[in-house]
Amino acid sequence: MTSRVKETRYTGACGDGVLLVLRMSLSRALNNVILSRSCSRCGSQRQNPGTWFRSIRQYTCAECGGIEVVTYDEKLKLFAKAQLMRLPSE
Ligand SMILES: [Zn+2]
Repeated sequence: MTSRVKETRYTGACGDGVLLVLRMSLSRALNNVILSRSCSRCGSQRQNPGTWFRSIRQYTCAECGGIEVVTYDEKLKLFAKAQLMRLPSE
């Protein structure tokens, strides 16, 4: 006999993964909010409105000229963090 372990999904505070669980969408509320992302090569900050980040898949870093690919997962993280930071004032 095998004992069946009931899977429990815990969504407490334990890092970035949780943010994805909390906010699985690229909220339109952040369309005009400036989000920033650092280049994986040179670390320079790219700042653009949420609407820009939602629409692009990659961009060219102004500092090092490298192509930075922004995955959907990464967009979710960007938006989730920005949204959490905005919460207290809303
Ligand atoms: Zn760069």
